Amino acid sequence: MDLGLNGKRALVCASSKGLGLGCARALAAEGVNLVMNARGTEALEAAAAQIREDFGVDVVTVACDVSTQDGQAALIKAGEGVDILVNNAGGPPPGMWTDWDRDDFIAALDANMLTPIAMIKALVPSMMERGWGRVVNITSQSVKAPIPVLGLSNSARAGLTGYVAGTSRQVAGAGVTINNLLPGIHATDRATSLDTAVSSQQGISMQEAKVNRCASIPAGRYGTAEEFGATCAFLCSQHAGFIIGQNVLLDGGGVNSTM
Ligand code: NAD
Repeated sequence: MDLGLNGKRALVCASSKGLGLGCARALAAEGVNLVMNARGTEALEAAAAQIREDFGVDVVTVACDVSTQDGQAALIKAGEGVDILVNNAGGPPPGMWTDWDRDDFIAALDANMLTPIAMIKALVPSMMERGWGRVVNITSQSVKAPIPVLGLSNSARAGLTGYVAGTSRQVAGAGVTINNLLPGIHATDRATSLDTAVSSQQGISMQEAKVNRCASIPAGRYGTAEEFGATCAFLCSQHAGFIIGQNVLLDGGGVNSTM
């Protein structure tokens, strides 16, 4: 299927590794030129060079922390006039509800709620003027089914989800879609760090932690960044213009619900 994206431009936040990189690579495979971002330069430059080599698209890199105002300003400048925005940032640490104070909540809200909102506010107006745009926010399955040890994530992502539900309906008439992609467990550094936490809490090996987690997923495995990226590219495609304000779950069946 031709996704109709050849020659478009996308800003993919937090994209040197993991799910952000999966999205960047899937868009590049469709001929989309990229602005890529991560905090450090090494992995970012390596990922960008590989994408240029594999797909022959233009890639601009911006090394900054997307959750800071300076980082957002740098990305908004580099991403001026983009057709596609993929919002992403690292997730908050796990813990117990008694662990978190105001500063922990502010950090989580900044990274996983207020940052994507700031990026949408800055970049969507020009998409609306041109009558076409796509925004995909990487959130979490925790929006549909809470993960108790990820209370900071549950809270911040629920806030973004509420914002997107309303805002997506305000911009849809101008040809701009905003949707959320909800990863269940995927084989990235984030999954490794979650498995490490389980392993030390329960006194089991990493391999046991992974086997136990897989047992709770009907597909019996972790998702891949490639399949996550392919879904993102479809949501950004010409064919997805009627999909507005949805929360698309990619979880191997892990969330046990009818809808
Ligand atoms: P990851 O830790 O593997 O990759 C994170 C990427 O984001 C890296 O490129 C890193 O450099 C970059 N990054 C992180 N924080 C950043 C920041 N503040 N500014 C700029 N770059 C930043 O994470 P992932 O597994 O790809 O997950 C992406 C998002 O999806 C996270 O918010 C995560 O919590 C969420 N999520 C992941 C899973 C999973 O199983 N992998 C499940 C549910 C939710």
